[in-house]
Amino acid sequence: MAAEKEYTFWNSLAERAAMEARTMLTRGPDPRNALVLTNAGYAVIESHTTEPCLDGSRRWKGASPGKATLLEVHSARSSALWFFFYDMGSGDGIYCEVKSGALSGMLSKLDTLSLKQIRSLIGAIPAGELFTTLVRENVKAEKLLANPDGWNQKVQAKVFGGREFAIVTLANAVPHGTPYDLIKSALFHDHYCPGVTSGYLLLNYLEKHFPLRSPSDKYFVLSIPPWCKDDAFLTLLNATPGKSGYALYYPTNDDKAKLKEEAKEIAGIFFRRNAEKGLWEGMVLSFSFAKVTQLSGIDTSKGYGWDSRLKMDLWLLDYLDRPELFIGPILELSLKPGESPSDLARPGVNPLERLQLLKTP
Ligand SMILES: [Zn+2]
Repeated sequence: MAAEKEYTFWNSLAERAAMEARTMLTRGPDPRNALVLTNAGYAVIESHTTEPCLDGSRRWKGASPGKATLLEVHSARSSALWFFFYDMGSGDGIYCEVKSGALSGMLSKLDTLSLKQIRSLIGAIPAGELFTTLVRENVKAEKLLANPDGWNQKVQAKVFGGREFAIVTLANAVPHGTPYDLIKSALFHDHYCPGVTSGYLLLNYLEKHFPLRSPSDKYFVLSIPPWCKDDAFLTLLNATPGKSGYALYYPTNDDKAKLKEEAKEIAGIFFRRNAEKGLWEGMVLSFSFAKVTQLSGIDTSKGYGWDSRLKMDLWLLDYLDRPELFIGPILELSLKPGESPSDLARPGVNPLERLQLLKTP
């Protein structure tokens, strides 16, 4: 019963949020255009997990995980609980953030309430007491990019509680045809940026040019230097530090100054095990954002930052199957018998020096 009450509570809360959103848009979107972004399931409120909100969010009719329109955005469990109810047709969306503390009273007496009482209490709390933010904005990419100054004022005013970039980029990903596995990486990263896309491109490159050869094979990634791309590796390769599939190295300024010309745009070392020889083989790859800028004409150091990144996200969608445009092999290598990739990630070992990627005086 306790579990059922918990479920009813959080489920009703999300339904209430969806209903508020529907009212603010006059009516809900065509179900084919309904999209929900939320950190429900990640946010933990006063020691209560919030996953029943995911079912309640489906009150935004049409949104579903199987259609990639009910998307769970990674957050810290200490984060506020939020929802973004979006109409992909019009571009209108409602951002809704639950007030911390607003639920304490009810949560503490959940045991004493019936399911019906829980539902009616949640329905009766004035919206202003339940939500810190309940705001309507149009976030269609084309619209924002046509008037970046206008949207930038809203970014500065933090209309979505500081999550403007995350929400704008993720909300536009689905209608622009971003593949679900790239969306999945962006959800883990908590926003959709060209950095995550660069990780996706690196994986597409590996699949083409350095594929695994048996189902039991796996990659080991030694990321140098880490950036947004790494969250795509963790998500799509399931190569995590916890499963000994991932390590990283932050080059020092001295390293950066000494990198050989061909290694200046290094992204990492990707290892696969050659079962036949019992050896680890590796490929050092580069990723060139300079090339992306050159081909797209989009410079992320210009403008507000969010606008050029959003533009680049969309531009890159046409190049996901052409990773060779931006990625190149720096070096191919084999480790010695008995050596493993983690040997290059031990304290005191500089993998750049070991692989002779630094200039010697
Ligand atoms: Zn990023």
